[in-house]
Amino acid sequence: MKDYIDKKDINNNITNNSNLKMLIFKIKFSKLEILHLSIATILVTAVGLSLNNYRYVSWEFLIIFVSAFLVHELAHKLLAQFYGGWAEFRTNSYGLLVTAFSAIPFIPFKFIAPGAVVIDLSDRSKFGRVAFIGPLTNLFMGFIFFILSHQYPLIGYLYIGALFNSWIALFNLLPFGNLDGQKIFSWNKIVWIFMMVCTMGLFVLINT
Ligand SMILES: [Zn+2]
Repeated sequence: MKDYIDKKDINNNITNNSNLKMLIFKIKFSKLEILHLSIATILVTAVGLSLNNYRYVSWEFLIIFVSAFLVHELAHKLLAQFYGGWAEFRTNSYGLLVTAFSAIPFIPFKFIAPGAVVIDLSDRSKFGRVAFIGPLTNLFMGFIFFILSHQYPLIGYLYIGALFNSWIALFNLLPFGNLDGQKIFSWNKIVWIFMMVCTMGLFVLINT
């Protein structure tokens, strides 16, 4: 019996590993999606750089702003495709306009909402999890940057990484409109409260 369980576990592991490999190689992008993602990434990076009125442009800042946006969106896409659904990133004109406006220096209100991954998934629970994974990536990266910023206080961009990621997580968790927060809230209110408390906690930690 023990032997059987071990073999079964090994087989499961092999299946899981090959699923993961297939998942990574199977992630599909259309040319239209790459165009939309590129436009959105440029705008998000511009909003990030506008926080310092474009005075400091370095590859560290570029990596922080691009990863905060792309990792979030690709996590949605990857999980939705893993569940067998259709998922592609699309900008929307109102979101592009608001984000472009936010990229203007000295504008105090910064909104990053150039578009979203459009998902076709009928299962409500899977749809909720796909929404949940986006802000979770920013919360996770925010905590990593926060810990590193304490270990290496002289490296200023680590603090910016913590701040930018926690801000993106918080904004996306708002339970309104088409934001991830609304989808998580209608799927599972406990998960939404947990995420909100963690994100607020990170915010307090960063700003004290
Ligand atoms: Zn999202």
